[in-house]
Amino acid sequence: MQHRTLVTDTSCPRCGKRAEAIDHLFRECLVTVEVWSTLLLQNVLIACNRDFEQWLTWVFEQLNTHECRIFSCALWAIWGDRNSRIHNKKEVTSAFAAEALACRRAVRIGMENTWPEVIVEGDSYAVIKKCNSKEQDKSMIGAYISDIQ
Ligand SMILES: [Zn+2]
Repeated sequence: MQHRTLVTDTSCPRCGKRAEAIDHLFRECLVTVEVWSTLLLQNVLIACNRDFEQWLTWVFEQLNTHECRIFSCALWAIWGDRNSRIHNKKEVTSAFAAEALACRRAVRIGMENTWPEVIVEGDSYAVIKKCNSKEQDKSMIGAYISDIQ
C-alpha cells in the first residue's frame, strides 16, 4: 500500500510501477493482468504484441457477446479507477480511506443500476472485513463504511 503515497506523475496509479501508458494500463499492469484472469479473460493477453487498437479489435473478434460485455465493463472500470486515483490523490488522507471510497463508489454504481449484487474486489483486507461486518465501524473511515453497509 505504501507505494500509493509515492506515486509520481510518470508511474501507474494502480500498481505504482513503470511509466504510465495505455499499453501498461490495460495489458501489462499486474493489477490489470489479475483482473483479466479473475474474469477468465486471460486469453486476451495472448496478442499483446499488437498495437493497442489492433489488440482491441482482435479481442472483440475472439470473444462471444457475453464476454465482450464483461470485457467492455472491465475496460471502463479500469479506466475509471485510474482516473479516480489520479484525481482524488490529494483529497484522500490515507490508503485505507482510498480503498473505502473506491468500494463505496462501486456499491453506489451497482445500486443505481439496480444490479442484484455487486462483487467488490479490494486490496485492503481490513476494509473488506469492515464492509462485510454488521457492526458499526468506529474508525476514521466509519462514515464510508456505514454507507457501503
Ligand atoms: Zn500498473
